This record gives sequence, C-alpha cells and structure tokens, in this order.
Amino acid sequence: MPRWGMVIDLDRCTGCGACVVACQAENNVPINTEDVYHQRRAIEWIRLERYWEGEYPNIKARYIPVPCMHCQNAPCEPVCPVYATYHTSEGINMQVYNRCIGTRYCAINCHWHVRFFNFWEPKWPDSLKNQLNPNVTVRSRGVMEKCTFCIQRVVKAEHQAKLEGRDLEADEFTTACAQACPAEAIVFGDLDNPNSRVAQLVNSAVNERGYRLLEDLGTEPSVYYLKKIDPEAAAEEHSGH
Ligand code: SF4
Repeated sequence: MPRWGMVIDLDRCTGCGACVVACQAENNVPINTEDVYHQRRAIEWIRLERYWEGEYPNIKARYIPVPCMHCQNAPCEPVCPVYATYHTSEGINMQVYNRCIGTRYCAINCHWHVRFFNFWEPKWPDSLKNQLNPNVTVRSRGVMEKCTFCIQRVVKAEHQAKLEGRDLEADEFTTACAQACPAEAIVFGDLDNPNSRVAQLVNSAVNERGYRLLEDLGTEPSVYYLKKIDPEAAAEEHSGH
C-alpha cells in the first residue's frame, strides 16, 4: 500500500506561481476576485508565501509554497463532528464535501492555514466554463475544501494499474503542481517505495537539508521541505567567519 508524500525543494523554487495556477485549474478552485481577496477570503489550495531575508541593501526575496501537509496525526481530523475530514489508509487527509456541515473547526485547528471555506457559491466567467475539470467536484457554498494531493489522479492511476493487473510503478503520475513546476521543485510520490524520487529525496534530506514545517508540533506532516542553499552564507561558513 502506498504512503503518499511530497518534497518541495526551496533551492529550486523561483516563486513563479505556476504551481498555484495549475492547482487552481486542475481542482476547480474558485476564482479570487479583488473583493474576495480584500475580505481575506481568497481560496488557494497551494499558496506561495513570500518573505524577505537580510537587511537593505543585502536583502533577498524568499518563497515557500504551502499546500496541505497531509499530517499523519492531523489536528483537523479529530475535531470534525461529522467525520467529513478523515485519513485514508494511503496517508492522505481527505475531505468529504457532502458530509461537511460548515462548522469550520478543522480550519481553526490547522496550524498551516491550508483549509478554505466556501463563503459564496463559486462563479466562473463564461469563457472559463469549459475548462472545469470533470473529474473534480465543484464545491458549493458552505463547505470546507483543501489540497487532496490530486486524489483524482491517484485514483485514476491506481485503477489503471489494477485493470492492467500490475502494481503501480514509482513516479508513474504526479500532482498538477508538481507537473507544472518548471524548476521541478515539487516532487510527489510514494514515500514507502524506495525507487520513488520522493523517498530517495526524503532519505537523503534527513541528513542534509530536509525539514518539515512546524515539525515540533508532532503532527507528522507528509510534506518535506529542502532548505535553500545560500552560497554566500555557505562560503562564509566554509572560510570560518
Ligand atoms: S511552480 Fe515551482 S518554481 Fe514556480 S512557485 Fe511553484 S514550486 Fe516555485
């Protein structure tokens, strides 16, 4: 049985935002208009956080893409009164839309703020109606939603492998964000398959650049990050300053 996970290499990420747009198109994420944004109710299943490091004039822009962490001890799961959010046997934190009654306890309990509530009925301009993905439910007003690790792609690949009477191969498919990233900063796959890129990266990362966001909370996120390499800091360290 696979255990799905992701590695995001911050040394490769340029902050281009292709992952955000790809996720929005793949998962029928509602369009954020300016008024929605100003009410702080914008929805993005993967968001790009930007922050600054250093003091002017030696200041550098840093980026960090943040999807759902798919925690193995997810704090959002035990607080849902109707089991709308639950854990699959393959390690994905799932959301059942037609069970959700909109209490939003899960969003309050998520330390990464990656759960989004539909405060309005989503609307798309006519020119974009045909681009909706038929494999993904269009969520209505009043339900919670978030990154599913592109569960529709996971299920499709698993069905295809079953039809062909074989096991799923390592890196046979990937999520929309990983597929769109021009820098190949995002790698998705089976953490339990030693042949998958994600498992190889995680295992090598443990000794080197790997970490997880808010790891000390003990929620066991399935998303790993690889630290950015700062050549100047590395050179200084090397020269002993
Ligand atoms: S697509 Fe890749 S490089 Fe661009 S912001 Fe996303 S992770 Fe970074």
